[in-house]
Amino acid sequence: MPAFLGRLLDLIYPPLCPVCGCLLTGGEACLCTACRYHLPRTRFEDFRRNEACERLADRLPFDKAYATFRYLKESSVQRLFEQFKYHGDKRLATYLGTLAAQELKERSFFDGMDLIVPVPLHPARLRQRGYNQSHLIAQALGKCSGLPVETEALGRKLETRTQTRKGPWDRQLNMQDAFVTVRPELVSGRHVLLVDDVLTTGATMLASARSLREAGCRQLSFFALALA
Ligand SMILES: [Zn+2]
Repeated sequence: MPAFLGRLLDLIYPPLCPVCGCLLTGGEACLCTACRYHLPRTRFEDFRRNEACERLADRLPFDKAYATFRYLKESSVQRLFEQFKYHGDKRLATYLGTLAAQELKERSFFDGMDLIVPVPLHPARLRQRGYNQSHLIAQALGKCSGLPVETEALGRKLETRTQTRKGPWDRQLNMQDAFVTVRPELVSGRHVLLVDDVLTTGATMLASARSLREAGCRQLSFFALALA
């Protein structure tokens, strides 16, 4: 869209903060300064010992794990995630991914990593939504860190039915064979940062990770935008 058209649209539909509804000022992108400041964050001090690591522990060796925000019920983070997952607001996934990436870069999180792989969305869901939010988050991380983002490496194969009523164990069984490394040469011998939007039980991350491991990936680290 040409810049003047964007400015014209801003005049007709002034950009509002999706959390509090206030009018955004010129310098504010996506969120107002106050809402950005108050986003619930995990603030984990250690990349190797934290709640995200605990969700993924004892099942597979890995280097680091981190989640930037807390996915609390009725919180601003929940509202923003709903916007980019179900209401097509892709910009918010990129925006939050960039906020997270800047902090991670300052703290040398990406040191030693070779590439970023987003957890793929099921093809049916991808058709319905039109984009994979984890891919957008991975792109934001890639842009900030300089690491390549590889979407061709990992694929999704089985229909995984809605998991809301299943317990953690059922979820893990359900996810176990959902992923396949379709391009092993892309990950073989490399340190892969696996990226997803939300970390809940860890079943999705671990199923993806297992597939990458079997394909010869040397080391793994995990990043989720939020910890539920
Ligand atoms: Zn606000």
